[in-house]
Amino acid sequence: MVARVLPFKVSAHVADVLVDWGRAPDDPLYRLVMPHRDMLSPADFAAVEAALPDEERLRRVVTGIRERLAPPPEDPPGGEDGQGLEHVYPDTLLVLPRQGQTCHSHCGYCFRWPQFTGEPGGRRAVHGPGAMCAHLDRHPAVTDVLLTGGDPLVMRADVLADYLAPLTGRRHGHVRTVRIGTKAVSFAPERFLTAPDADDLLRLLDGVVRSGRHLALMLHVTHPRELEPGPARRALRRLHATGAVLRTQAPVVRHVNDDPAVWARMWQEQVELGLVPYDMFVARDTGPRRYYGLPLVRVLGVYTEACRRVSGLARTARGPVMATGLGKLVVDGIARLPDGPAFALRALRTRDPELTGTLAHARFDPTARWWSDLVPYGEHDRCLIPDRGPGP
Ligand code: SF4
Repeated sequence: MVARVLPFKVSAHVADVLVDWGRAPDDPLYRLVMPHRDMLSPADFAAVEAALPDEERLRRVVTGIRERLAPPPEDPPGGEDGQGLEHVYPDTLLVLPRQGQTCHSHCGYCFRWPQFTGEPGGRRAVHGPGAMCAHLDRHPAVTDVLLTGGDPLVMRADVLADYLAPLTGRRHGHVRTVRIGTKAVSFAPERFLTAPDADDLLRLLDGVVRSGRHLALMLHVTHPRELEPGPARRALRRLHATGAVLRTQAPVVRHVNDDPAVWARMWQEQVELGLVPYDMFVARDTGPRRYYGLPLVRVLGVYTEACRRVSGLARTARGPVMATGLGKLVVDGIARLPDGPAFALRALRTRDPELTGTLAHARFDPTARWWSDLVPYGEHDRCLIPDRGPGP
């Protein structure tokens, strides 16, 4: 029933190596990718069940549920070429190649899940590098380009090369940093080892570094076990040899990694593997948030306690970070203010550069899970927190 509504896909590596079937369903890697009936409300689950086997009725029921679970309007707006470019900051362009709009496995909490359902309007992608290049021509202030998806490393090396070549040449000399978001090391390490074009892919990445650009692979790693298998370790060694910098990020999600000990272990092991912990995210308010979501105060507790357990080199991750329509906001802690406790928020990076670095407070709410649940503490806090009525 759940997989009729939400995307489900699992790679051989995840099924054969990562999931501990003896501990399912409580194994965190099982929870990460496998559908569970609690991902839907009991009413939605029953509605899907009742609609079967009438495919036409099922389609209407599923579409209705997806619309309710889909990301709210705060999701970043698409680019002018038809939703495959997101010019998120004046210097940063996200590119979503059409050929990369899937992943080796799908994470149950993925905020891009509507792109994998086939619903009309769900997919946002550029159909080739032309739109990206035209956009870069018009915006010479862009210094950073992030290829994202899905997972761009599902693309064949020759297709990826079509996107990377323009970013490393003289025409777009203003592009100094190329980032690639991927979970391939965790989900499909053979991509870098035994895939027919594995060597071509490594050469391609090596070429980006030799062009003088900074190449950052933004590795999505949700649980420390993902990097334990030998193939993942060998993949990391090959990636390091290209000269790319490997950074890591993931959200805190219930059932999988909502434990400071897991994060402390993960960060420490990542440092030992030569990786740089970058961001700890708050799971977005979309998809099966009833299953994976956590109160902000709990996520903050996981971050704070994990930081206490590691040395400075392993606590480089910023967090907990909410990637909102305004930009990236970090919850710095809980402040004791005259009118009661408050979440202390800081704008790490915002679409409006003037707001970057701004501080704001939201009234403490132990049930708040996301930015849109927050209420500004005072009038001036509305700069970072949505206005939801008269306020204090
Ligand atoms: S790897 Fe990233 S894009 Fe792919 S399913 Fe997981 S969260 Fe979504």
